[in-house]
Amino acid sequence: MLILDWTDFFIDLFGRVAAKVFERQVVLRLVKANLFLCPYKFTPSANQKNVTDTYRHKGLRKRMVDALRRRGITDEAVLAAMAAVPRHFFLDKAFEEHAYEDKPFPIGHEQTISQPYTVAYQSALLDIRNGDKVLEIGTGSGYQAAILAVLGARVYTLERQEALYFSAKKLLNDLRFSTVQCFFRDGTKGLPEFAPFQKIIVTAGAPIVPESLRLQLDFPGATLVIPVGEDVQTMLRIKRLSLTQYQEEVLEAFRFVPFLEGVEREV
Ligand code: SAH
Repeated sequence: MLILDWTDFFIDLFGRVAAKVFERQVVLRLVKANLFLCPYKFTPSANQKNVTDTYRHKGLRKRMVDALRRRGITDEAVLAAMAAVPRHFFLDKAFEEHAYEDKPFPIGHEQTISQPYTVAYQSALLDIRNGDKVLEIGTGSGYQAAILAVLGARVYTLERQEALYFSAKKLLNDLRFSTVQCFFRDGTKGLPEFAPFQKIIVTAGAPIVPESLRLQLDFPGATLVIPVGEDVQTMLRIKRLSLTQYQEEVLEAFRFVPFLEGVEREV
């Protein structure tokens, strides 16, 4: 019994030390992104985003992270990134009160910011290493891209809705996320001029896995995380083993906005 208690003690201690190391890396990246100051202020943009991060917001974020832990997210680096990035910055002011609930919210143009559980789940599946070149399809609000950047990724993110592309690009730029590059593109074709990527993440529900995305994975070992299906999607993690071989894991069910072909311009 005593030995078991000591084992538990050391496992717990090891977990806490590991969490501190990850937190330290996250804090360093936040300092670079000017996000570490509290309350944080930057020049308000025209699109009515929230611009201050108060202790109340931080408290709500901590609660959100506790809820993610209870739902089974165990990746400490992901949890630390989500505790650090102010999600309310990425939502309209009207939703500020609800920004830390585990829910998706409208971001305009019939699109939504993914719910925190989905962001945490996909980020954990990607297992980001410092300096990984990551392609995200579906910039939306820019929140997922910010989380990936805090995890150490060099992010290339594509959006097919021109208005969302402009607002996310401005916000990420205002927040000094210098390792995120935004593109106004149809993501079904990927981003061949910057391929290969170590990780690719699709944040809209795809009817099929686009061949172009498979082919833009580095090999051996690069990973594609993509929800596939019509009404309900199944999360797939596809690893490229060689020029022609892929390994596929079929994971949980989710509901995403649809992955659409072509681009839509502002009118
Ligand atoms: N990652 C986003 C989630 C946005 S919802 C966030 O953190 O907020 C999915 C987004 O994918 C929408 O903005 C939608 O316009 C975009 N999308 C759908 N199909 C696309 C395509 N073919 N290429 C690029 N973006 C696409």
